[in-house]
Amino acid sequence: MAEVILKAGREKSLLRHHPWIFSGAIQHADENLSFGETIDILSSQKEFLARASYSPHSQIRARVWTFEDEPIDTEFFRKRIHSAVHSRDVRGLRRDTDSYRLLYAESDGVPGLIIDRYGDVLVLQSLTAGSEFWKETIADILLEETGLTTIYERSDADVRELEGMDPKVGVLRGTLPQLPTTIHEHNLIFNVNFAGGHKTGFYLDQRRNRLRVRELANDKDVLDCFCYTGGFSVNALAGKAKSVLSVDSSADALTLCKENVALNQLDQTRHTTLEGDVFHLLRKFRDEARSFDMIILDPPKFAPTAAQVEKAARAYKDINLLAFKLLRPGGMLVTFSCSGGVEAGLFQKIIAGAALDAGVEAQIIEHLSQAPDHPVALNFPEGMYLKGLRALRRAQYKLHAAIPRKEIACRQHASQSSLLCSSSQ
Ligand code: SAH
Repeated sequence: MAEVILKAGREKSLLRHHPWIFSGAIQHADENLSFGETIDILSSQKEFLARASYSPHSQIRARVWTFEDEPIDTEFFRKRIHSAVHSRDVRGLRRDTDSYRLLYAESDGVPGLIIDRYGDVLVLQSLTAGSEFWKETIADILLEETGLTTIYERSDADVRELEGMDPKVGVLRGTLPQLPTTIHEHNLIFNVNFAGGHKTGFYLDQRRNRLRVRELANDKDVLDCFCYTGGFSVNALAGKAKSVLSVDSSADALTLCKENVALNQLDQTRHTTLEGDVFHLLRKFRDEARSFDMIILDPPKFAPTAAQVEKAARAYKDINLLAFKLLRPGGMLVTFSCSGGVEAGLFQKIIAGAALDAGVEAQIIEHLSQAPDHPVALNFPEGMYLKGLRALRRAQYKLHAAIPRKEIACRQHASQSSLLCSSSQ
């Protein structure tokens, strides 16, 4: 087996089972190691630490397949894939939806590989040299383990460049069904174009949060910013929102959003789409003194890595500040960050700063996260990327001299803002 020897002291992260080996940690690598080749990682004392795949072009020079001394072969991948497929079955996901993340890279023990299931089609992303090396083997196992026949490849994420790989998109196994395909989620249906859409076509990670919005939208005027194909908008309408305004900069996304509303036979007279830049439109709405009961902010990744955090923080603060201003007293902000570089604590601080500068008081009612088909392995915290907060803009009260204070407290208890009442007593 080819070998890579680490510098003294650089084995610490591996001993904690973190699966990445950076180029700077390597003391010696055998010559002529090839793209995706399986290698042994040894400590400076030449003790076996892990078995990994080699990425000649990336700063992350190797990714661990296993910390055991076991062969990396078809059976190895079969076990990992079987376990990922089985865990989704056990979690009962398939009662809620026919579309979910079947395998989530490092979190499921297969670095670089993401498999999403859309109805009867598997969509595969191979993002590293190791997953590329084993791709054909993995494709065969996937069909055997799921009993499906079609795999579509969407290996076109930017990170492939860091591995020195060109984008690859197209049918990997079987035949492509007619697109868009229709998927089911929590008794709603969505058209998904996994061949042309963002990511692999739909934001599967937001499934639970979409349902939450449905539960809370009743009789509300909802503004869905960065709506894409309408995951939140459709759910808000299904939850009997009074009105839903869906905003996105992509005309194609808005077309699909409207189609998805129609597909579910929801009341289209309550739905409006608006093409434009959210940063600009929120300012415009503020200048026009418009207001909403619920605002959803689900922007694209402003900070893919820690390096862009500062700029991203300003962008998050900007839109959240404007959203707080547009919220009616007692209104609800449902705000997200999918930036890996922005940790949950920082995100909460950004939102706190936004409320302060907007001049409103708000409370966090709920912390939101990625759906359970996007698990986070405890040895790989980078797998946790989606953070959300549901915040309530506190209602504003004018104390009435004519009404005794006790009575006001009772009235407040009966309203949505009872928390305000109890905490101020
Ligand atoms: N909320 C969506 C996913 C959002 S993805 C869902 O649940 O499905 C991010 C979306 O933001 C994309 O549709 C992209 O077109 C849009 N977008 C990116 N920058 C934007 C901007 N400045 N203004 C408006 N939309 C933007």
